[in-house]
Amino acid sequence: MTATSETTGSCLCGAVRYQITGPFERFFLCHCSRCRKGSGSAHGANIFSSQATLAWLSGEDSIRTYRVPESRHARSFCVECGSGVPQAKGNWLMVPAGSLDSAIDIRPDAHICCSSRAEWDAHLEDVPSVDGMPG
Ligand SMILES: [Zn+2]
Ligand SMILES: [Zn+2]
Repeated sequence: MTATSETTGSCLCGAVRYQITGPFERFFLCHCSRCRKGSGSAHGANIFSSQATLAWLSGEDSIRTYRVPESRHARSFCVECGSGVPQAKGNWLMVPAGSLDSAIDIRPDAHICCSSRAEWDAHLEDVPSVDGMPG
């Protein structure tokens, strides 16, 4: 964990750009059904910080936040491309790891909500790896 660092990120279409100053503290891969729906993938990958500050460099007016009714689950995204973007959660800043453009030195702390894993989400390290697209 670095003492102080600046990290940048953006959405898929580039409308939303942001900069984060300060350290990341926690990094979770969440397999709950809401994170799977929201990400369209096996799990959410979110980094958390209670100290970092967020500055929007562009596109703040393109951000919408969807809240799952009667829950604390919310997802902020770019209205142009649907990419997940950072959001405040109480005293924590939550940053979708896949939106980062900078290299980071934090590794995931844990897979969480593993009882909700997709049935195909097991032993993925055994799946063949291909450098580019499949031939
Ligand atoms: Zn976008
Ligand atoms: Zn989740």
